[in-house]
Amino acid sequence: MAIQTNTRIVLAARPQGRPKPSDFRIETVDIVEPGEGELLLQILYLSLDPYMRGRMNAARSYAKPVEVDSVMEGGTVARVIKSRHTGFAQGDIVLSHSGWQGFALSDGVGLRKLDPATAPVTTALGVLGMPGFTAYAGLLTIGKPKPGETVVVAAASGAVGSAVGQIARIKGARAVGIAGGAEKCAFVRRELGFDAVVDHRDDDFAAQLKAACPDGIDIYFENVGGPVWDAVFPLLNDFARVPVCGLIAQYNVVAEAGVDRLPALMQQVLHRSLTIRGFIQREFADQRPAFYRDMAGWIASGRVRYREDIVDGLEIAPQAFMGLLEGRNFGKLIVRVAA
Ligand code: NAP
Repeated sequence: MAIQTNTRIVLAARPQGRPKPSDFRIETVDIVEPGEGELLLQILYLSLDPYMRGRMNAARSYAKPVEVDSVMEGGTVARVIKSRHTGFAQGDIVLSHSGWQGFALSDGVGLRKLDPATAPVTTALGVLGMPGFTAYAGLLTIGKPKPGETVVVAAASGAVGSAVGQIARIKGARAVGIAGGAEKCAFVRRELGFDAVVDHRDDDFAAQLKAACPDGIDIYFENVGGPVWDAVFPLLNDFARVPVCGLIAQYNVVAEAGVDRLPALMQQVLHRSLTIRGFIQREFADQRPAFYRDMAGWIASGRVRYREDIVDGLEIAPQAFMGLLEGRNFGKLIVRVAA
């Protein structure tokens, strides 16, 4: 029997602070048949990423917000189940940006065919996809690691951070990870091969970080902000580079007036000749072919390892996403939407 309905998750309300279950709504709608030049996709895997928290806000950002009552956006791996497009055939597996739903129409624009024989298709959402590319481009283009330098990265067991530390080591630098909890720290040190790891939940975290970086910090790849940044900042060496990739510790914080720390920050930017440079990965899109080549080679040779945290069922996506913002994921968070 033909599938006739699509289950999708829409933004029900804009969260104030932490998202809650009532900010999401599950809906069932009819599937629309593809027109000329269109495809019908069945979503197999949905990527859950920290940036989605920003899309839930109305505020101006680097990308348009998701409108209330619209499908939550997100990267997906999908199977073409009907094609009226000359470039795609039924059965093709593609990387798409179809959002939190079971089925989607596409005109083919922005789709990338995946070859399941080359790599597990989920890696197109993680180590061989946007997060892996973010690590590659941000670290190499802005961080510019040199042999012997100390590179520190937080959220070190996650999709971006795990790649940052391993690429830093490939470039001859010393990698120090920051992660939450003993299990993640053990994974970062033993499985990913970082030179040292520190648990940001420990009471003496700042002292442990200082001990783990006896020569100071040359590159801090900023993924989290908040108290982790406070501990890192005094350890930055002259001419340190700080690629500002993400600030996940701040995504749920509602801004309040407080002590103005900007003058002190700017003083140190001057005195220590710091480079603090924000970026959004798509800025470096021309580096993607080099990334696919290098990262595929590093995975094949065992120099880069990765971990995926795959949860089952679209309806679990809101809960899993809320957990991501609190560190409950362990590795690249992916929802298996269909077998
Ligand atoms: P991830 O590391 O797989 O998962 C998020 C991790 O952040 C959690 O597991 C948790 O790890 C950590 N975390 C959450 N809340 C925290 C807090 N309050 N304090 C400290 N750590 C906290 O996520 P990801 O996809 O790799 O993303 C990492 C960062 O990169 C995010 O900030 C994201 O927005 C950013 N990003 C930026 C770009 C770009 O183009 N600029 C692209 C992709 C991602 P622990 O439990 O270990 O603390």
